[in-house]
Amino acid sequence: MECYRATKIQEALKILNQHKNCKLIAGGTDFVIKMRKGQLNCDFVIDISSVEELKGIREVGEYIEIGAATTFSEIVDCVLVSNRLKGLKSAAKSVGSPQIRNRGTVGGNICNASPAADMVPALLALDSSIILESVDSKREISLRDFFVDKGKTIIQPNEILTTIKFKNPTKNQALGFYKIGLRKSLAISRISFAVFLEIDSINRIEMFRAASGSIGKFPMREYKLEEFLIGRIFDEDALNMACRLLEEDVFDRLSGRNTAKFKSIASSGCFKRAIELGMDECRG
Ligand SMILES: Cc1cc2nc3c(=O)[nH]c(=O)nc-3n(C[C@H](O)[C@H](O)[C@H](O)COP(=O)(O)OP(=O)(O)OC[C@H]3O[C@@H](n4cnc5c(N)ncnc54)[C@H](O)[C@@H]3O)c2cc1C
Repeated sequence: MECYRATKIQEALKILNQHKNCKLIAGGTDFVIKMRKGQLNCDFVIDISSVEELKGIREVGEYIEIGAATTFSEIVDCVLVSNRLKGLKSAAKSVGSPQIRNRGTVGGNICNASPAADMVPALLALDSSIILESVDSKREISLRDFFVDKGKTIIQPNEILTTIKFKNPTKNQALGFYKIGLRKSLAISRISFAVFLEIDSINRIEMFRAASGSIGKFPMREYKLEEFLIGRIFDEDALNMACRLLEEDVFDRLSGRNTAKFKSIASSGCFKRAIELGMDECRG
C-alpha cells in the first residue's frame, strides 16, 4: 500500500481524484484498526493530518466553523468552545484516552459513521452543516442527511469533508451532553445524548433540539422529544413526560433485542442528565 502525505486541500483532492482505490487517513484511530483486521480494500492512502487548512476552530460571521482534521484535544483546549459550548467540550473530552484525543479528529469521527461516535449527537443538536469538497465541486449539506446506515454515509469516493459549521449560540442558548459507557474513561458509548436549548424568562422552552448516540444505526435527531418539549414550561412534569415518551420510543426501536429494556430506561436517565446540564448552563 502506498501512502502520500498531503499539505494542502487541493493537493489531496487532486490525488484522490487520480487514484481509483484510494482512502483518506486523518488520525488513523479507526482506520488503522480496520486495516489490521483486513477490512479495508485500498492500495493508496492519503494522509490529511498535516493539512493546516483542515484544522482549527474559528468564528465566521454568525457561525462557528471547525476544520475536519481538528483533533479532540484541540476542541477540548479551545477557549471559544470552553466559554460557549460546554457540551461540545464534554463530548470531545469523553472520547477514548488522551492518546486517542491527541490523534483522533472530528472529521474522522463523522466519516467513520459509528452509532457510538461521540461528537455526532452534539453536532446534530447544534444543527450542524458539513462541507464536502471534490476537485470540481463544493457542497454544503445538513449533518442530519449525511448518514444512511451503520458505517455508511453519502460521501463520494472523490470527496473530502473539509468543514463542520453551526450557528454560534446566543447568550440564553446552551448545549448539554451526557454519555453512558461501561467505564468512566476509555469507554465507547452505550448511550449518549446531546440537547441544545433556549429558555425564556418564564422558563418556557423556546427552542429545543435533541440527538442520541448508540440507540440506532447511526446518531440521530430525536424529533418526537423536540416536538413534545418546544413551547412547554420546563418543570418536573414536562421532563418526566418527555422521559416516558423516550422510553417507549427506544423500546419500540430496539424491540426484539435483549438490550431493549435496559437501553430504554438508561436512555431517559442519560437524556435527563444532558438536559439538566444544558439548563444549568442556560441559567448561567
Ligand atoms: C482505543 C480507542 C478508543 C476510542 N474511543 C472512542 C470514544 O470514546 N468515542 C468515540 O466517538 N470514538 C472513539 N474511538 C474511535 C475514534 O477515535 C474516532 O472515531 C475518531 O474520531 C476517528 O478519527 P480519525 O481522525 O482517527 O479518523 P481515521 O481513523 O483517520 O479515519 C476514519 C474514517 O474516516 C475517513 N476520514 C477521516 N477524515 C476524513 C475527512 N476529512 N473526509 C473524508 N473522510 C475522512 C477515513 O477515510 C476513514 O474511513 C476510539 C478509538 C480507539 C482506538
